[in-house]
Amino acid sequence: MKAPDFNYQRPASLSAALQLLHDNDQDAQLLAGGQSLMPMLHLRIAQPDMLIDLNRIDELATIDAGDAHIEIGSMVRYAQLEASEQIKTCLPLICSALPHIAHSAIRNRGTIGGSAALADPAAEMPALLIASNASINLVSTKASRVVSADDFFTGLYETALQPGEIIKSISIPKPGNNSVFGFYEITRRHGDYAMAGVAISAQQQSPLHKMRVVFFGVAEKPLRAHNCEQALENGTANDSGAIDLAIKSLEQLPLMGDQHTGVDSKRHLAGVALKRALQELH
Ligand SMILES: Cc1cc2nc3c(=O)[nH]c(=O)nc-3n(C[C@H](O)[C@H](O)[C@H](O)COP(=O)(O)OP(=O)(O)OC[C@H]3O[C@@H](n4cnc5c(N)ncnc54)[C@H](O)[C@@H]3O)c2cc1C
Repeated sequence: MKAPDFNYQRPASLSAALQLLHDNDQDAQLLAGGQSLMPMLHLRIAQPDMLIDLNRIDELATIDAGDAHIEIGSMVRYAQLEASEQIKTCLPLICSALPHIAHSAIRNRGTIGGSAALADPAAEMPALLIASNASINLVSTKASRVVSADDFFTGLYETALQPGEIIKSISIPKPGNNSVFGFYEITRRHGDYAMAGVAISAQQQSPLHKMRVVFFGVAEKPLRAHNCEQALENGTANDSGAIDLAIKSLEQLPLMGDQHTGVDSKRHLAGVALKRALQELH
């Protein structure tokens, strides 16, 4: 199928994009990397009257490292993240997960902001942002606001974005020297969407302290597993008793089956991913 007719605007500044969105809010959709939106247009799942293309807005495509945070513009592409020395040095969790996001052709175009806005429950980036304690910086013609990644992903392809808002950037705190990370996903083939995966951060390894354990591909949205964190907190990553308790706690999570498999099998896969991510914690 071919996309329906639409008007196309390619503003050169964020303020111009915001004004276009404000003036056409009911009928307009933002175009970032197009890796999800273009197929949605061709399948006619999305039928906007206007596309507002963000690809010429340079101010959205920068990575800025401050003392305490890294601020990543919403139009920064996965490939740009992979090539960034700042990301390699400061954000090892994100760095280690990037090669698992789709394939290089898609990573050449797909953006961090597009992935956050889409909120695909099987996508890696939303879970990585929660595990990294990130904040999403939103702007509209009237105001700007900051929403924590914990609160941003509200449901199946649903976020806290309000009409007229654009994701401007994403701020990620620089982890401390003692921080450790783990990432593991189960896919049929490398680059496929995950059947189940987990992103873990902890401010300290021995004992584990201030953990964030976030599952993806197993529920309607990325799921922070507080009970699982509690089971592991103050133990070590190879404490089999604590790991068993953590896996048991997955029974309390509101998991969802999908085209791959049902809920019980998702729970099993989530437990396997958790165990392996803990084994590789570094
Ligand atoms: C074959 C294939 C395999 C893939 N596999 C994976 C995978 O394994 N893991 C994974 O995570 N993803 C995967 N993807 C999706 C890919 O990562 C997309 O890049 C991503 O989901 C959307 O990013 P985008 O920049 O392409 O956004 P677009 O497709 O351009 O936009 C997506 C949505 O976000 C909105 N949006 C975009 N930018 C903003 C913004 N700044 N503010 C507000 N709203 C905005 C758009 O209006 C649209 O609704 C795959 C895609 C394909 C085609």
